Amino acid sequence: ESGLTINRARKTFRSAEGKLVHAIDDVSLNIEAGEFFVLLGPSGCGKTTLLRSIGGLETLDAGEIYLGNQRIDEMPPYERPVNTVFQSYALFPNMTVEQNIAFGLEMEKKPKDYIKRKTREMLDLVHLSEIGKRLPSQLSGGQQQRVALARSLAKSPKVLLLDESLSALDFKLRRQMRVELKRLQRETGIIFIFVTHDQEEALSMADHIAVFSKGKPEQVGTPEEIYDKPANRFVADFIGDINFLDATVHDAGSVEVEGKIFPVTQDLSEYGRGAAVSAAVRPERITLGAAKDGGLQASVETVTYMGSDIRCHVRLADGTPVQIRVNPPFDSELLTVGAKVGVTVSPDHMRVVER
Ligand code: ADP
Ligand code: MG
Repeated sequence: ESGLTINRARKTFRSAEGKLVHAIDDVSLNIEAGEFFVLLGPSGCGKTTLLRSIGGLETLDAGEIYLGNQRIDEMPPYERPVNTVFQSYALFPNMTVEQNIAFGLEMEKKPKDYIKRKTREMLDLVHLSEIGKRLPSQLSGGQQQRVALARSLAKSPKVLLLDESLSALDFKLRRQMRVELKRLQRETGIIFIFVTHDQEEALSMADHIAVFSKGKPEQVGTPEEIYDKPANRFVADFIGDINFLDATVHDAGSVEVEGKIFPVTQDLSEYGRGAAVSAAVRPERITLGAAKDGGLQASVETVTYMGSDIRCHVRLADGTPVQIRVNPPFDSELLTVGAKVGVTVSPDHMRVVER
């Protein structure tokens, strides 16, 4: 089983104004065999360029890409054991679903029996066996997407590249396809490298996520690590909702916020005592209590009922606004505009990042 290794990759473009753009800026990544890997980041951070470099549609300026021990970045695109699913499905309109799936194998002059078997297997895999004789125009958007996937998988690539593949689908279908893609990846055991700017998509599908900014990964980790232990302010801010509270480092295991000491599970020895930092806290990780029970003193400013939870905004004594998400059972005495409350955060749920 071979993983994909990217070693010190660089790609620089010259913009229309003549400025140099470091689309991929010295990127090294290890993607394990059999994993669903997500490249996540805002528009323009280099995700597509990296994917195109793996697929062979761009040539790196420097660095190497290996699949196992095989160097692939110098191979022509069609010889790489890599296939790409494009956002526009690019199905042949005059060919049936079966013919679309078989086309690549016929081009490769595979034996007829093999093509027949493989096409049937792919139709089963994407749950389309009933409609193999239909034309693309007779399919829904979700079905077309599944045909495109089946066609890419038919050639038995070792790596499948997907660039914002779900963004053309409507919200509900997109959610279904996340589950479907995850299942396809597990059943085939192929490395999927999925590019998205959508953090929810990334968290829900990935084994590992690389969060990119300006051509570089800021953090690589499991969804849990990225969400609960962001490595820096950019990652904390990019993923999910979060509050940043002004804090100062008290010692290697605690910070001070508004004169109160909060222990944290993170090792703060890299910061000096008294260093100005931010304590990042997710809205749903905050506990709201009565003011007299301690915590940061605050008053409730808005309360919004959302069905599954209640969102509220409180303001700390120093004026800092804090958003909080409260799960049922709801305490109506605390969740009242004007109520005086205490805000507490457990050591696990306060993450210290640069201010
Ligand atoms: P993403 O997919 O994360 O939105 P891209 O990889 O498409 O980012 O682009 C990264 C940067 O490289 C952007 O600043 C983009 O404008 C620039 N870029 C990408 N392709 C080209 C190109 N062919 N010529 C010039 N600049 C490019
Ligand atoms: Mg892109």
